[in-house]
Amino acid sequence: MAKATDHDVLIAGAGIVGASIAWHLAEAGLRVAVADAVGPAAAASGASDGAVSVASKKPGVMARLATGSLLYTRDLAARGLLATAFAARPSYVFGTGAAEMGAIDALIAKLAELAGPVRVLADGGAGLLPGAGPGVERLLALSGEGHMPGHKAVRAYLAHPRITRLWPAALAGYEVDDGGVTVDLGTQRLRAGILIGALGASTPEIFPGLPVLPRAGQLLVTDAGPRGALPGALTAAAYLLAKTDGPGHEVLPPVVIDPLATGQFLIGSSREDHADTSRVDFVTLRRLLGRSASAFPALAERRVIRAFAGIRAAVPDGLPIVGPMPGMARVILATGFEGDGICLSALIGREVAAMARGEGPGPDWAADFAALSPARFSAAQPGRVA
Ligand SMILES: Cc1cc2nc3c(=O)[nH]c(=O)nc-3n(C[C@H](O)[C@H](O)[C@H](O)COP(=O)(O)OP(=O)(O)OC[C@H]3O[C@@H](n4cnc5c(N)ncnc54)[C@H](O)[C@@H]3O)c2cc1C
Repeated sequence: MAKATDHDVLIAGAGIVGASIAWHLAEAGLRVAVADAVGPAAAASGASDGAVSVASKKPGVMARLATGSLLYTRDLAARGLLATAFAARPSYVFGTGAAEMGAIDALIAKLAELAGPVRVLADGGAGLLPGAGPGVERLLALSGEGHMPGHKAVRAYLAHPRITRLWPAALAGYEVDDGGVTVDLGTQRLRAGILIGALGASTPEIFPGLPVLPRAGQLLVTDAGPRGALPGALTAAAYLLAKTDGPGHEVLPPVVIDPLATGQFLIGSSREDHADTSRVDFVTLRRLLGRSASAFPALAERRVIRAFAGIRAAVPDGLPIVGPMPGMARVILATGFEGDGICLSALIGREVAAMARGEGPGPDWAADFAALSPARFSAAQPGRVA
């Protein structure tokens, strides 16, 4: 006789992806538990820019997923769930020099092809944005995007009363049988119908063979100035290039300046192939700050009050890894979101929850999710056994 389960689904990882999946499963009435080695938003979800941006996504699968997730995030905000986390706001992309001009032209073409909620309002010079400085040769004004601090969204999702929270509790291994999965959390072993691995950059510790690589990003925060000085995110076109080309191909500092509700500015972010969050260095931050002040000179009056780094989970082909492990329908992965997990989390949560219930992804998303399957890696193997 099959052993009874403690939970229908156990999710390892309480970042924004695990939290969103958990909320969708709890809403559907399933018994769901979330285990985290540290606590909610302890890794990338608590150390990111938080842009819910279609403009920064590669054309194709990623741009389509981001468009769907932006619309669904807005919907969840309108329904109250993400009301305190998500804020709609305009966004601006600026550039100077041939490479950045090319990136802006490509962005305009991509948005026209998508014909989605993100629209080009104006394409001109620095005069389009009051306060823009000499570093802005060309400026694109966009409508439709938003901002969502990851820790706020995680808190909102995990507040669902039917979610069992387990932390600190690190997944150490698992064993699959016909009736479910025995999950080893170090101090306790639990039975679940399905295990979902939402471990971000820690994925290879439990699922060896999957090419999830750490990619650090440095950010800084200023003190508060007058609110509303900058109406929305101001992104260098070099940031779009860094997201598609990866580290080492930067033409100019890939800066994003995001005004926060407090009047502070969040300024990011670098791309570095290592996993050390203590490596926050003056040279990198000075490059980001220098370009920020030349694009928006009022920043020169602000003080930097904090600098920190977060670790993205990068996959060599630039796509996340989402779906059941090959030959193991009871073990589902949702990882490898690099610099896009905040933006994609709402849609990923809904569709992975549908997968776990044996119903998804929905017909509109089946083809795009097929491209994300772990089966695309021949080295994908069953994970560490408990
Ligand atoms: C500098 C920077 C800027 C970014 N900017 C943006 C942006 O503007 N827009 C955007 O959409 N995205 C952005 N991102 C990316 C985004 O932050 C991530 O894609 C997203 O947070 C990933 O969420 P996750 O839940 O997959 O992983 P994580 O948030 O990394 O969560 C993984 C969780 O797993 C836990 N864990 C690890 N090992 C174990 C174990 N053995 N057992 C149990 N739990 C474990 C960790 O403690 C952690 O809480 C940025 C990231 C960085 C670093």
